[in-house]
Amino acid sequence: TLRPDPRPEDKAMDQDRALRPERLTDFIGQAEARANLRIFIESARRRGEAMDHVLFHGPPGLGKTTLAQIMARELGVNFRMTSGPVLAKAGDLAAILTNLERNDVLFIDEIHRLNPVVEEVLYPAMEDFELDLVIGEGPAARTVRIELQPFTLVGATTRLGLLTTPLRDRFGIPTRLQFYTVDELHEIVTRNAIKLGTPADNDGAREIAKRARGTPRIAGRLLRRVVDFAVVEGDGRITREIADNALTRLGVDHLGLDGADRRYLGLMAEHYGGGPVGIETMAAALSESRDALEEVIEPFLLQQGLIQRTPRGRMLGKKAWRHLGLDAPEVGEK
Ligand code: ADP
Repeated sequence: TLRPDPRPEDKAMDQDRALRPERLTDFIGQAEARANLRIFIESARRRGEAMDHVLFHGPPGLGKTTLAQIMARELGVNFRMTSGPVLAKAGDLAAILTNLERNDVLFIDEIHRLNPVVEEVLYPAMEDFELDLVIGEGPAARTVRIELQPFTLVGATTRLGLLTTPLRDRFGIPTRLQFYTVDELHEIVTRNAIKLGTPADNDGAREIAKRARGTPRIAGRLLRRVVDFAVVEGDGRITREIADNALTRLGVDHLGLDGADRRYLGLMAEHYGGGPVGIETMAAALSESRDALEEVIEPFLLQQGLIQRTPRGRMLGKKAWRHLGLDAPEVGEK
């Protein structure tokens, strides 16, 4: 049972699905997480028990969902998927939990967005595989305890800091996913290009990898667009020239920044003298939600040293001034 719960994002992710690695050995990168998971999976299999609960955290598109699916496959159990915002009522979660088979993997995406009432139901379920349900209302209300099959909860979040401590503490295996190196993305692009029937030569794959913001999901999207250009304007092969042309026309620059990233950096440079400027101010000026800035835009800019986070707000790094083709203000000028 793969993804029984329809999510609005499902359609957007359909495309991704074709490129998903299916086994741990096909999964490139995240070497440390992968090595640890391999041991925990093997141990759970040999003991015939449910694997301990896993929490994946890190920016979107780094492979949290993919790893959860791989875990289920390697464990030889069903994969069930839902997400924090979808579970509106305690009963929604109870319905899923009571339908799990022994040792199944339940994946909850965006687990930092769980309703507190639902979260309460999750605690005894995670700890003792038990469900305490309140039946009826007022003086007639009573609690019934339901035994659950042992299961593995895999939670995913882009915002570890928004998880409550009791929830966080119930995950035996917290795992942080990192941005991918260019070499790792290079290999992912090369393999995916073959899967798409449009092989990339070495420099072509590398060009896409360099401009994918350290993120396999972005590498996949860029690759698909480059394939379009290769088919229509080239001879169906992905070369460096085709890739460079396509990505430039799509507004993806040499660092992999897109329009939204450049708007962010440009605003800081031109309106706030490079900062420090508060996140709320940036969000308002860009008409973006604070969450979108913190979850999607900033992690890569921070990792690249294009911006810094200080107690007084965000500041533009030297590298960003150079990238924008502007002079950084003299130190001490302000
Ligand atoms: P997340 O859940 O962290 O947002 P996903 O697991 O949905 O990310 O991954 C996004 C896409 O990137 C997937 O469709 C998958 O094809 C691809 N992907 C992620 N990690 C890898 C990897 N290590 N190797 C190859 N492809 C990957």
